[in-house]
Amino acid sequence: MPGSVKDVIKRVRPTVGTALEAGRATVETAIEHGRATVEDALHHGRATVESALHHGRATVETAIHHGRATMQAAILHGREDIRIESVPVPKAEPGELIVQVGAALTCGTDLKVFRRGYHARMIVPPALFGHELAGTVVEAGAGVADFKSGDRVVALNSAPCGKCYFCQHNQENLCDDLLFNNGAYAEFIRIPSRIVAKNTLRVPNHVPLEHAALTEPLACAVHGFEDSKPYPGATIAIIGGGPLGLMMLHVAALSGCETIAVVKHDGQVEAARQLGAKHVVQTTSIRKAIRDTRALTPNDRGVDIAIEAVGIPEAWEEAVEMVRKGGTVNFFGGCAVGTHVALDTNRIHYSDITLRATFHHTPAMCLKALDLIASGNFQAGAFITGRAHLYELNRVFEKLMKRSTEIKTAIVP
Ligand SMILES: [Zn+2]
Ligand SMILES: [Zn+2]
Repeated sequence: MPGSVKDVIKRVRPTVGTALEAGRATVETAIEHGRATVEDALHHGRATVESALHHGRATVETAIHHGRATMQAAILHGREDIRIESVPVPKAEPGELIVQVGAALTCGTDLKVFRRGYHARMIVPPALFGHELAGTVVEAGAGVADFKSGDRVVALNSAPCGKCYFCQHNQENLCDDLLFNNGAYAEFIRIPSRIVAKNTLRVPNHVPLEHAALTEPLACAVHGFEDSKPYPGATIAIIGGGPLGLMMLHVAALSGCETIAVVKHDGQVEAARQLGAKHVVQTTSIRKAIRDTRALTPNDRGVDIAIEAVGIPEAWEEAVEMVRKGGTVNFFGGCAVGTHVALDTNRIHYSDITLRATFHHTPAMCLKALDLIASGNFQAGAFITGRAHLYELNRVFEKLMKRSTEIKTAIVP
């Protein structure tokens, strides 16, 4: 019965086709679900591993910190006398943090202290030494809610009280009870509760710790710059090619001011150019520096703003002679105790010159400084010209005393 075999085949073929089709769809769905499940598992697995690694690292760091009784730290004993000693690792009291120092930076103030052997307000020997640092929290005292072990932070060198007349009048830099902290040249540093509460900042992940450690001096520079009544296009002369002079110069250049760097050494000329100086006047004498700077302004009228960042009386006088009528002078560099300046009273009065003398920083300026570092516009790397181990600290300061071309050296414990 050939007719009926054909019939059967006709009837069965569509069924086979349908079965095949349904089978393929089922297999594809199974594969699709399987892939999604595997991807999901992978994703969760990775997140779990990363989280475990992070926690593990924090735990190990804490364990290392707790397991150690002593650490290496620089102790200032007096004039040009720093010794690296074994001292107890600090423990966090309520509100305090213990930070493992990632990088501590040398500073002009530390150099002054090294030379003189003390600083009336900041440090009385024998004492832990160094104040510009960033690192990783290894212990948080009771009651600290904002930071935990493993956090990368920059802890400032001071914090205002918040209660005195000056704090309540928006002049926290002049606080009657400014609390200073030293001890950055060490493996670990204790951060007092007031600094934890008011002047400790989280460092964004993309910012290296040694860059974040620039927050303190940069906060002084930003403060001094903003205090000098700047405006875009203003011509601003900065006297001094030390770390703070160069920082001020860079801040002014980034803000759109026309900058004139007045510096002494060849290395400073180069650094000033790199950091955005429109003109560089290399000083041979104060008279000539004043003349050359004025010559860069229309009709020799003088600069709109002059900032002194050297800290010697002659440079203060020089700054007043560079500025135009109606201009602003900022005596930013602190001079030695007991020094005086001779200023032309007629020139100051009849030329209507504003005199400012900005000191230190405020918590708001510290925030601005770290934001500027994190923005990527600020060339933080240009300010760190050397690296040294803690045990080389004496040699580093001796070298800095001989007026090397170094701007800042990162001390790594
Ligand atoms: Zn400093
Ligand atoms: Zn105060």
